[in-house]
Amino acid sequence: MSKQRDFVLRTIEERGVRFVRLWFTDVSGTLKSVAIAPAEVEGAFGEGIGFDGSAIEGLTRAYESDLLAVPDPSTFQLLPWRSQDQPSARMFCEIRTPNGEPAIADPRNVLKRTLERAAELGFSFYTHPEMEFYLLRSKELGPEGPIPVDRAGYFDNVPGGTAHDFRRDAVNMLEDLGISVEFSHHEGGPGQNEIDLRYADALTTADNIMTFRTVVKEVAIAQGVHATFMPKPLANQPGSGMHTHLSLFEGDTNAFYDPAAKYQLSQTGRRFVAGLLRHAPEITAVTNQYINSYKRLWGGDEAPSFVSWGHNNSSALVRIPMYKPNKGGAARVEYRAIDCAVNPYLGFSVLLAAGLKGIEEEYELPPEAENNVWALSDGERRAMGFDPLPSSLDHALAVMERSELVAETLGEQVFAYFLRDKRREVARYRSQVTPYELSSMLDTV
Ligand code: GLN
Ligand code: MG
Ligand code: MG
Ligand code: MG
Repeated sequence: MSKQRDFVLRTIEERGVRFVRLWFTDVSGTLKSVAIAPAEVEGAFGEGIGFDGSAIEGLTRAYESDLLAVPDPSTFQLLPWRSQDQPSARMFCEIRTPNGEPAIADPRNVLKRTLERAAELGFSFYTHPEMEFYLLRSKELGPEGPIPVDRAGYFDNVPGGTAHDFRRDAVNMLEDLGISVEFSHHEGGPGQNEIDLRYADALTTADNIMTFRTVVKEVAIAQGVHATFMPKPLANQPGSGMHTHLSLFEGDTNAFYDPAAKYQLSQTGRRFVAGLLRHAPEITAVTNQYINSYKRLWGGDEAPSFVSWGHNNSSALVRIPMYKPNKGGAARVEYRAIDCAVNPYLGFSVLLAAGLKGIEEEYELPPEAENNVWALSDGERRAMGFDPLPSSLDHALAVMERSELVAETLGEQVFAYFLRDKRREVARYRSQVTPYELSSMLDTV
């Protein structure tokens, strides 16, 4: 019996935990949960808890529907929003087939496989996400669409405002769950907020993002408001992104740091960025997986639309942030396209795979974008090699379908399911006749 398992069993006993939720994620990035009685936990650590995988999006093919959820004891946490006299806890699970093999379509397993590839090259991968979301008065729509809880803007302090209390409660709850928060503030749009999670290894961060989305929704319910991670809920306001800071470590050493290099970005770092840039169009369907994601990417307001990199250039897709000269450990690169509606396990997998490809193939970093990339003309951008990101989900899927990198990283089953599922979304959207079309065309043609 491992120490961690022992600790979990003891805590369940001592705290009188009534329900233990086993958490995992489907291919779309939806959190799944099954509650088991405390007496079942020991067995779950051993042979796992069986469930019908065919009912979960993308996890199995119909003819191999039995799966097992095996909890990871290192992820055990009491859930602070459940009642204290009948506490509940959760653990993230690894999904296995009946013969004990990791299920290839388990997104957490996709990320583990990609992290193992990085480890073979000597690297561990760390991420730090900036989570943006809107707080709305409710799910009800007004004449202009969703109704935000306030009219404040970037870094505004709203005395007595909902957002202020909201962030305090959400941050406290996250800390209770062992998730450190670095930063939280009002974002640019009305009702828009940002909470930045402290960097951690990518598997922990992905688990933390799943927990974060749940916490934010729970706190919103408790405060009588509605939280949404929809990438572009309001047509004329900034979208919600999930800028993610990425770094590779070799042991304790930050592999992106070189004090003598420009922006202190090492050769490994430059090649990693070159990999991100070269493969950005083919990974975008994964990092930005909804029809609505493209309304953010192409809607201005600091969302990146073109493949470029820069130093503190907020129009660039990849930004090399500044950090204190004596803080080499903080060397990192920021990928700005990805949004909060991503499946974080899959999103981090394709970002890592793209960066590693750049390192393995020794890609050259193209010239930096020194100006605002949006202000250039199409011709200027073309001359400088700043290619557009896909302009729609449909387009992104067409690029992804040809990508060996994405197919290899996701594995055949997830790759095929993802394309099929997302094509259905495109077809459903295409079948709509929107209010925009009606109001602009009914009279004019
Ligand atoms: N909300 C912007 C986006 O969609 C980012 C704003 C910012 O954090 N600078 O990416
Ligand atoms: Mg930020
Ligand atoms: Mg922000
Ligand atoms: Mg940022």
